[in-house]
Amino acid sequence: MTTQVRTCPKCAQLMWLTENQYEFLDESTIRAKCPHCGSTVRFTLVSQGDTAAGPKMGH
Ligand SMILES: [Zn+2]
Repeated sequence: MTTQVRTCPKCAQLMWLTENQYEFLDESTIRAKCPHCGSTVRFTLVSQGDTAAGPKMGH
């Protein structure tokens, strides 16, 4: 588990979620509570590079 950095869909602020601030609903979905607005939000973890949204990291 690693720190997840996500933008809250409710208040649009960045959430830095350490591993004890979120939980896995299944192997590719996490649920967290936004520290800014308190909303419970879900995110899908993408591990296969099938979104073109993010910049490539590493290589
Ligand atoms: Zn929020």
